[in-house]
Amino acid sequence: LFQDLARYGLRPPKYADQATVEADHVSHQNWAIFYQYSHAAAFHTWIPDREHLDWLSEKYPTTFDKFYRPRWEMWAEMAKQGKRFYNMALPMLCQTCQIPMGYTEPADPTTICFRESNFKGERYHFCSDGCKDIFDGEPEKYVQSWLPVHQIFQGACGGATIPDVLNYYRLNVGHDNMDYVGSPDEALWNSWQAGAVKAAE
Ligand SMILES: [Zn+2]
Repeated sequence: LFQDLARYGLRPPKYADQATVEADHVSHQNWAIFYQYSHAAAFHTWIPDREHLDWLSEKYPTTFDKFYRPRWEMWAEMAKQGKRFYNMALPMLCQTCQIPMGYTEPADPTTICFRESNFKGERYHFCSDGCKDIFDGEPEKYVQSWLPVHQIFQGACGGATIPDVLNYYRLNVGHDNMDYVGSPDEALWNSWQAGAVKAAE
């Protein structure tokens, strides 16, 4: 596409090459982050079933089986033993895009990618070269980011205990968060499905 657009003076955006390399990784890393922090966000997650894992293996032949499928199989085994995995630490957040820094180096999917900058005696952390660049261009703007994890540790989110923080965020535990399996949403979906089957009969 950019070759076609070059005659209009359009160039690929900076770091397009990194984004291209990461395309076969980033969605798998996203879901793994959502999954392990499902207790700390107001939505459910689940382990893809065998049919969907097979689909992912087929769609991402160079990355899924090598880096991601073994993790899902391990987490599935843990869940089967009643030890559904939740990450009990809170993640470092990127100062610019504010997302958890759980993504890997563009050239090495086994190493977490992080960058840092110093500004007025404070150290700031970034998920990527692009986010560091944006910060370095306008640090006065981005030092103001209201980062939830940092705010929790500073006691600015309702208090010092987990129930205080969950209450501050109006998180109804088990209803809004945690695994989809066993949730009220799953029960509701199953009852709708049963109704649909009955209606079709
Ligand atoms: Zn970022």
